[in-house]
Amino acid sequence: MVDLVSQYEKMQEEIDTAIIDVVRSSAYINGPEVKAFQSELETYLGAKHVVPCANGTDALQIAMMALDLKPGDEVITADFTYVATAEVIALLGLTPVLVDVNPTTFNIEPEAIRAAITPKTKAIVPVHLFGQCAPMEAIMAIAKKHNLFVIEDTAQAIGAEYTFSDGTVKKAGTIGDIGATSFFPSKNLGCYGDGGAIFTNSDEYAAMLRVVANHGQTRQYYHDEVGVNSRLDSIQAAILRIKLRRLDDYNAARQKVAAFYAEAFEDLPEINVPEHCANSTHVYHQYTMVLNGVDRDGLKAHLNERDIPMMIYYPVPLHLQKAYRDDRYTEGDFPVTEILCKSVASLPMQTELDEEQLKHITEGVISYIKANRS
Ligand SMILES: *Cc1c(COP(=O)(O)O)cnc(C)c1O
Repeated sequence: MVDLVSQYEKMQEEIDTAIIDVVRSSAYINGPEVKAFQSELETYLGAKHVVPCANGTDALQIAMMALDLKPGDEVITADFTYVATAEVIALLGLTPVLVDVNPTTFNIEPEAIRAAITPKTKAIVPVHLFGQCAPMEAIMAIAKKHNLFVIEDTAQAIGAEYTFSDGTVKKAGTIGDIGATSFFPSKNLGCYGDGGAIFTNSDEYAAMLRVVANHGQTRQYYHDEVGVNSRLDSIQAAILRIKLRRLDDYNAARQKVAAFYAEAFEDLPEINVPEHCANSTHVYHQYTMVLNGVDRDGLKAHLNERDIPMMIYYPVPLHLQKAYRDDRYTEGDFPVTEILCKSVASLPMQTELDEEQLKHITEGVISYIKANRS
């Protein structure tokens, strides 16, 4: 799905030098590279504070810990997402309240959020799924009205921009109270191991995020909170600094791939290409389409025979996962997510696809669909 080696080879000297410099500096943890990356990412995002951490799941967990959410508090999130979002809610003893998504954008539905609010609701965690912002203007209005925190899961959408109706433009992850992202290698801004970060414009939350991420420590060996140990290491920070400078180009390359796919599949009623909303840019972490009346396993096998990977993000709704299934939910509760899980398919999406590869992929898809029309 992702060719990270070809991407690396284009900046090999720069990366190799940066890694060796960190090794020679011996500042492996909390070194100057981490500080520099933090400040460069703050500038890129237009966020007042970036707190680097060990991975995206930690970023979400630290955000929820810093907001002092208590066991039994309800946190609303999308049923159609990667498990990490709901996992940290459950892990902290909070109650994940799942809601359905929009069938064409795959993002959380504001009406469904409104309907799920109870006196116990404390926070909303919108996920900017596959690289496009959730409807943040509506979500922020709901949060304001009901006095709820908003934690954006922006692991798939770093660099995406959201435009409000008054013309204000903000980067994904800087709109709610706190944003959480991941630098897992295959993310749009990925390092060569694990990494993550938390964003906020609030001085108060930033101070708490730093305390929580560092063993709840307010000064050395004084622990005022129960915290966690979650750090971005200096080698990863040095790599991320180099890749951050290229992030907009990487996202543009992904958009070009998406445009190629959209054009190739334009005349096929069997494929709904991902919808691009007017108020968000789409950075295509994944290229996820919806199949109509196509045998998905058959298509996958046909593509795999041609050395083309195809993935299902995601095959099972959260409310039907064994770990998250409880007596509040049953099959049929979230019909949009349930249909999507049965009909989505994701094609290769990355920065290094050339026209020849794209033709091979689209011809593979089209040949299967045409040969299997009834
Ligand atoms: C990748 C991802 C995460 C978790 O990030 P890790 O760095 O793997 O912990 C969380 N949420 C979403 C939506 C993701 O895609």
